[in-house]
Formats: sequence, C-alpha cells, structure tokens
Amino acid sequence: MNKFKIAIVGAGPAGYFAAQALQNLQTDERKFAIDMFEKLPTPWGLVRSGVAPDHPKIKSVSKVFEKIATTEDFRLFANVELGKDISLSELKKHYDAVVLAIGASKGKKLGIPGENLVGSFSAAEFVPWYNGHPDYAGVQIPLDCETAVVIGAGNVAMDVARMLSLNPIELDPTDTALPALKALHNSQIRQVHLCARRGPEHVAFTSPELRELPKLEHTTVLISPEEIAQAIQRIESLPEVEKEVKNNLDAMRNIANETKPTQDRSLEFHFLLTPKEILGTDRVEEIVFTVNEVHGDTVVQTDQIYTIKCGLVISGIGYETNEFEDVQFEKGRVKNENGHVDDNLYVVGWAKRGPSGVIGTNKSDSTEVMKFLVDGLQAPKESDDFLNLLISTDVNYLTQFDWEKINQSEVSTGEALGKPRVKIVNREEFLNFKNA
Ligand code: NAP
Repeated sequence: MNKFKIAIVGAGPAGYFAAQALQNLQTDERKFAIDMFEKLPTPWGLVRSGVAPDHPKIKSVSKVFEKIATTEDFRLFANVELGKDISLSELKKHYDAVVLAIGASKGKKLGIPGENLVGSFSAAEFVPWYNGHPDYAGVQIPLDCETAVVIGAGNVAMDVARMLSLNPIELDPTDTALPALKALHNSQIRQVHLCARRGPEHVAFTSPELRELPKLEHTTVLISPEEIAQAIQRIESLPEVEKEVKNNLDAMRNIANETKPTQDRSLEFHFLLTPKEILGTDRVEEIVFTVNEVHGDTVVQTDQIYTIKCGLVISGIGYETNEFEDVQFEKGRVKNENGHVDDNLYVVGWAKRGPSGVIGTNKSDSTEVMKFLVDGLQAPKESDDFLNLLISTDVNYLTQFDWEKINQSEVSTGEALGKPRVKIVNREEFLNFKNA
C-alpha cells in the first residue's frame, strides 16, 4: 500500500473540498495523509470571515469541514503562514504534492483619485472587520456620517450594503464580531446607495439575495421602476437572455413596485454610474460618477456627471490573490493549467480560477484538480514527518484539537447570549487554547 503525503495550504472551502476529494479517491492500494496549513488561528476561510452573519444557513457547510478534519490521517496546523513560518520549497520537498487553496483576499482597487482618503474602504477590509477576522479587528470604519456609498453590483457589494443599511438589532442574534456590532449600533448611517456601473440587466447579484431584501424589517429598499422597465425593454430586443438575468430583473421589479411604509433607513440602487473621483479634504465628503448609457450590447460613458454627498465609500468590485515569491501570478490569480502550477504544486479555489462562484462551486472544482493530482503521483517520497520540522521552529501552531476547544468556547459563550457563537477576535487569545 502506498501512502502519499499531501499538504494543503489554506483551510477555506476549496482546501477542505480538496481534502475531501483526496479522502474519496483512496483505495486499498493508495492512501493519503493530509496536512492542512492555515495562516489564521482558525479554519473555515470565507465561511468564517466572508459569509455575512445574517446568512447563518450558508455557514452550516462547516459541519462538512469538521467531518473531513476528523477523518483519519488529516491534521490541521493553524496559525502557520506560508512564506513566513514555512516556505513553499520546504513543503514541495517534504510532501508528494502541495495544494494551494489560498483564496483571493486582496480587494481590487477602483484606481480613481481620492480612493485613499479616510472613509474609503474595500469590502476586503469591511467584510473581515464585521466578521471578526483578527487582522481586521482594529480597522476604524467611520460610521459617524448619514450617507454611505457602496460600489459594485455583485453579492459582496450587496452584503456590504445590507450590513450598513439594516437595523443592527437584526444582527443581535448573529455571530457578527462584537466590536463591529457595537460600532454598527452606534452608526449614524441612514442612507446607503449601491451604485452599479452597468444596467440592471448586467448585475452580478444572484436572485435569491435580491429576493430577501424586502424582508429587511427596518429598511426601505428603493429601486427605480423606470430603470427596471427600460432594462426589460432592452433585453426584449436581444436574441438570447440568460435565465438568471430574467430572474434578477423579476426580483428587482418586485422590489421597485413594492409599497412599504417608509423607514428611516434606506438602501437605494443606482445603475449606469461609473465612479470617477472621491472628493474630500481630510476624509470622504462626496463621490462623483460619470453617467453611462446602454447602446445595444455596450455601456458607454456620457459627459454627464452624478454626485452623492457621503462620508463613507466601500467598493466591492472583486478580489485578487495576494502574491508571494516562488509562484507566478496572472490576472490576480496563481498562473496554472487546469489547477497544475509546476512540479508537484497545484492550486484550487479562487486562487486558481479567480473570485467567482459560491461555496459549493469549489467542490466540483477541487475534485477535478485532485483527480488530476492523483493521476500525476508515482511512488511516495521518503521524507521526515513535517511535524518534526514545525516543532523544531518556534512556530506557535494550533491543531484540530486546539481548534475544537476554541470552537466549543465560542459556541458556549454565544449560547448564553442567544447567538450561534461569540468570535474571538484577538490573535493572542487563540493561543491560550494551545494544548490547554
Ligand atoms: P462579482 O460577482 O464578480 O461582482 C463584482 C462587481 O463589481 C460587478 O458588478 C462588476 O461590474 C463590479 N466592478 C468591477 N470593477 C468595477 C469598477 N472598476 N467600478 C465599478 N464596478 C466594478 O464579485 P463579488 O461581488 O466580489 O463576489 C465574488 C463571488 O462570491 C461571486 O461569485 C459571488 O456570487 C460570490 N458571493 C456569494 C454570496 C452568496 O451566495 N450570498 C455572497 C458573497 C459573494 P461589471 O459586471 O460591470 O464588471
């Protein structure tokens, strides 16, 4: 029987689904010992630090992750960072194959003047802040203004806009990080404008997310019925229209036509606005857009401008993978061919295909790459247990056993407060659970 050692770097959905695929590809002759490395003290990646706290059902996939993690021959080494605590060359030397599942956590830039003003953020900072990511716990989001603008028309921009516009009492029974929840309770923001650069027929939202907006109890959601009617008219002249586009327009038409008592909190959708400049002296004061028009298949800029006075701008316009030495990157992701990078190195998830798809998309994607990886294996390497190397360094790694204690502690603190968990947000605090 051959037992191959596989290292997976990154304990997010793509990493776990890669591990699961390997577990499923085992035969009597071929087994896998999987070591998963994660730079945070906690696993689950975007399920912990990306998924919005008011979407608890999406997080239930963590049960699958825990099943994978507690299967024989799986070890978690959390709080271990590639490029800092361990090197890629060490991993490639020790393991029969290495799988990068490092995601894409760097927010894309708008590239416009004023983007670096105080009060201008990327969703890549705001989302981990409200989700208790320890590296973002100290981010100061100025919520002392009445109006916020969110740029982008994808589900991340929608999460951001919803989190800013809902009444935070709706977040009390969730696992929103406590410092963020407190800040949101004190927030002065009452108007949130979500601005898309193309038309309603071009948005990247998905319809279930749009359909849940009318359920916000304390927020008036505003969409112009005329803009939706114009978009519907435009798509009627197209030879083919995707079902998702029709579903989105249908959901937006329902919101636009809904009559609901006016609340003091609003979330307003704007279309055909390209961000041009953010203005302000010491902080964000206003955003200037170029107004666009749809001409046939294309969106063209006009010489008209539109402005919104605001104190906070958050862009949710996509992500890129953080680059590091030893690997080539292109278009914000690891350069690869069907998941193969070079030698015994593979890549899965957003780092492989870019920031697209829901959590489940990673299952089929990681499975394909792992089949490819397994096909490339020959005889297992004779190498020392990597654990010995970790022990010989001063890396303060946390194991699955430590994580289970952290998890239990967070859940039981949460239970007392009617929440699914209370997240620990301080890195040092996690280390108290090591071998405790
Ligand atoms: P996305 O779906 O690719 O949307 C990005 C949005 O940003 C698009 O509307 C794009 O407009 C816009 N954009 C890009 N560059 C821009 C610029 N320079 N100026 C203005 N707008 C710009 O990305 P995402 O929202 O980050 O989401 C990533 C993935 O995670 C998606 O697959 C999403 O569905 C998924 N996700 C799912 C959920 C959920 O299931 N609830 C929640 C969050 C995220 P154009 O189309 O014009 O380029």
